[in-house]
Amino acid sequence: MHTKSTISTLVLDGREFLVKRDDLIDPYLAGNKYRKLYTLLQTPSNRFDTIISYGGTQSNAMLAISAMCQKKGWKFIYYTKPISQTQKSQNFGNYFQACKLGMKHIEIPYDEYKNFINTIRLNLDERTFIIDQGGAVGEAREGLEVLAQEIKEANLETKVLATPSGTGTTALFLALALPQYKVYTTPCIGDVSYLKKQMQALCDIPSNLIILQPKKKYHFAKPYKEFYEIYKKTLDAGIEFDLLYAPSMWITLLEQTDEKVTYIHSGGVSGNPSMLSRYER
Ligand SMILES: *Cc1c(COP(=O)(O)O)cnc(C)c1O
Repeated sequence: MHTKSTISTLVLDGREFLVKRDDLIDPYLAGNKYRKLYTLLQTPSNRFDTIISYGGTQSNAMLAISAMCQKKGWKFIYYTKPISQTQKSQNFGNYFQACKLGMKHIEIPYDEYKNFINTIRLNLDERTFIIDQGGAVGEAREGLEVLAQEIKEANLETKVLATPSGTGTTALFLALALPQYKVYTTPCIGDVSYLKKQMQALCDIPSNLIILQPKKKYHFAKPYKEFYEIYKKTLDAGIEFDLLYAPSMWITLLEQTDEKVTYIHSGGVSGNPSMLSRYER
């Protein structure tokens, strides 16, 4: 594991960007999920014996938690809604890798799922820790402060950063830790007002955090021609990004900004084989 990430240069349309390579930290425990799990990773192994989480079976957080639990010797139980036989038999992608890392997957019937998730906190013993969907929101701050410190120490010639948002936790805590930098983000799940609500549930949105609105409305995890095109373009320029979050961030950056930007690679490349198989179809 390389816990301090490096910085690469990426040229797109003749414009130069810097990329903070959080994707290279570890094959499975990388990107912002590594940053968000930082506090748990620093926790002594004997503090817990089981980690519980829930959500989708293609999730990057699920894979990162699996890798963390394998490193720490913790049992990992992951609850989802029922999944297809096709997905269970796939020998690539996040679900396959997570199972290989020891994840115990439990399917909950559709009509019981919501109730079940609402009750997992009841009767919890002190050696079990629950990570809510998307990954360790409350604990994320410390890990993002470590990232902020690395950025400061790199003495970049630009004070403009960018990273895409799901819950917005990464962009928010990064902007809070670096008030002298401008942080661009864009919503990849829901619209701008949904993202603002998610962020405001954590704390006030600082003025150095700028939310760019994509020109077109995209639905999360759907394949789009322009997403594949920008994925190819960045790959040909030398760096692979994920197919769920990064495309929208790159499109809005190219369309709506003109400064020299340092893009914080948020990882997620491990989910690409399953997305690419959908693009082929
Ligand atoms: C989880 C994830 C995000 C979103 O992070 P948030 O902190 O929820 O905004 C962005 N990019 C990738 C690749 C991710 O896996």
